[in-house]
Amino acid sequence: MPDIANRVMAVRQHVDETVATAMAHLIEDAPDFGLNRVNPLAFARTNGLGEQESIAAFLHATQLGLFELSWNVVCQSCGGVLYQAESLQGIDQHHYNCSFCSLDCEPTLDETVEITFTVDPRIRHIAAHDPDSLPLWDYTRQIFWSSGSDLPEHLAPIVSEVVLDAFEIVPGARMSRQVQMSEGVVILFDPVTHSSRFLEVSGEPAEGQRLSIELDDAHQAGEALRVAPGLLTLDLENRTNRRIIPILWIASEALEAILTRRVPVLTAKRLLTHQTFRDIYRTNVLDLNQRFRITSLTLPVHRPEGIDRTLRADRRPCRFRSGALAFPAHVSGRFRPWRRGGQDDRRCDHGNLPDSGAGRGRRT
Ligand SMILES: [Zn+2]
Repeated sequence: MPDIANRVMAVRQHVDETVATAMAHLIEDAPDFGLNRVNPLAFARTNGLGEQESIAAFLHATQLGLFELSWNVVCQSCGGVLYQAESLQGIDQHHYNCSFCSLDCEPTLDETVEITFTVDPRIRHIAAHDPDSLPLWDYTRQIFWSSGSDLPEHLAPIVSEVVLDAFEIVPGARMSRQVQMSEGVVILFDPVTHSSRFLEVSGEPAEGQRLSIELDDAHQAGEALRVAPGLLTLDLENRTNRRIIPILWIASEALEAILTRRVPVLTAKRLLTHQTFRDIYRTNVLDLNQRFRITSLTLPVHRPEGIDRTLRADRRPCRFRSGALAFPAHVSGRFRPWRRGGQDDRRCDHGNLPDSGAGRGRRT
């Protein structure tokens, strides 16, 4: 791979030899999974390297065409990527909704926006470059969950206890399946469209129940449907032009334990304040008119008069959406949609959410 060798050689001019060598091994030898949404802090830890040096290496490698940098809005509750943009300016909505958690999250540079690096397809093609071709669980792991989710490459073994059923439905098709429902809450969530339904299973056991659900691109979230314990015939219809993969998750402490497994990530704040990023991009990437809530960020902003400004704002702007299910207090930022009761529209800590706007990028 002479092109890779030449570009890595160029990276070597900027960073320590050991970092550049580790990066060359990553590009040439890692499995496809290891080159999708690379977490540079995890890369540093795995290779026994410094974090700042590793971040610098990925920034230079991106400039040299080895990687593509992405800005991901991540749900702090479940670790799912709600929106992915090629630039910071692409994240221009006041809030992004996680339909898995029925939670609105406002982009914050130091909390909910993570930076990842994916190998450029011209350097090496990996399966994640064509997400709709990924097997169901690979899509869920690689496209839905973020680089901060401490989950293995192969999800199936660890989710077997909390998944009632999973479906793969081609565009325009229908699928019916019988599912044994037990008392509690089951979340139907499709990581492709980010549509969800919450099935409340309660009351006297019943047989012969049937439930039909259409899944489309409208990003419908959080509707609560009540069913009785017993055998349920579930009819699902794919009203999109993409393959969808709705999964029935059993809301439980075991699910919470999976969703809250985390590792440190490169936040947008850390990227914007990294010397290499500032040297390469001159920090004009930050549009001060953007609707970002920035916590404790001291950022040199290149203005004509050359003065630095300190940007500060309140913390933790996220809240539960109003919905048929009244979700519980979210006081510690933990994921507990199955414990019902309390008020609708509760807030996590504090913060105000203005209306949403259009944005560039893509919902993952
Ligand atoms: Zn979530």
